[in-house]
Amino acid sequence: MNEGCLLVLSGPSGCGKGTVVKRLLERDPKLRLSVSMTTRVPREGEVDGVSYHFVTKEQFDRTVEQGGAMEYARCGNGDCYGTPAAPVKEWREEGMDVILEIDIQGYRQVKEKAPDAVGIFIMPPSFGELSRRLHERGTESEEKIRQRLKTGKEEIRCAGEYQYIVVNDALEDAVDQIEAILKAEHAKTEAMRTIIEEVLNDAQTISQ
Ligand code: ADP
Ligand code: 5GP
Repeated sequence: MNEGCLLVLSGPSGCGKGTVVKRLLERDPKLRLSVSMTTRVPREGEVDGVSYHFVTKEQFDRTVEQGGAMEYARCGNGDCYGTPAAPVKEWREEGMDVILEIDIQGYRQVKEKAPDAVGIFIMPPSFGELSRRLHERGTESEEKIRQRLKTGKEEIRCAGEYQYIVVNDALEDAVDQIEAILKAEHAKTEAMRTIIEEVLNDAQTISQ
């Protein structure tokens, strides 16, 4: 069986990553979302183990020390975030595609460890719309929104490090585009090694 793809989605806070991922998961039963650990406080409606594994700084540090994180970073807002290593490895080995919704510091670490990871940067249609979405979401104070927009500008400057840029204007179009990227990744020669062997084995049987 071929290993599943590892998709890394990044983009400024408020661009719609969470919304896009939710829709992708609804549409694709073979897709798994890596649930990150974070030291930040849960937002209203966020469920532990679903949105994030909400952990203390001590628990976070211990996991990292024990090698249990595929990557980790301290984000612009001061909180720590990290990807638990084990589920990603297990799902990929089972042939599932895995999505990481992480920041650029994390993406760089993932690319070091898994060069076949596919980086997709989710771009807002404009900076004004990004600000509007953050305000409309209403989950952060004005001060935090200002901080996230500042960090967002820095992140957009790094968008060129990703293989793909998907503009999240109309939601379904953005999701269609990511599904198309995933399809193309599955058709890559590297992902199709087993089919070459299978057909050649078959050829040998037939020609005997
Ligand atoms: P992120 O996970 O990147 O921080 P969210 O998924 O929380 O962003 O989205 C931020 C806000 O923007 C939410 O209120 C969400 O409903 C809204 N949103 C997301 N995608 C779109 C879109 N394509 N068009 C309009 N609003 C959107
Ligand atoms: P939020 O607090 O809005 O959920 O996330 C803030 C930022 O942290 C976003 O840019 C998000 O992509 C990033 N993030 C979430 N989980 C992880 C993770 O496991 N690792 C890294 N490096 N960044 C993460």
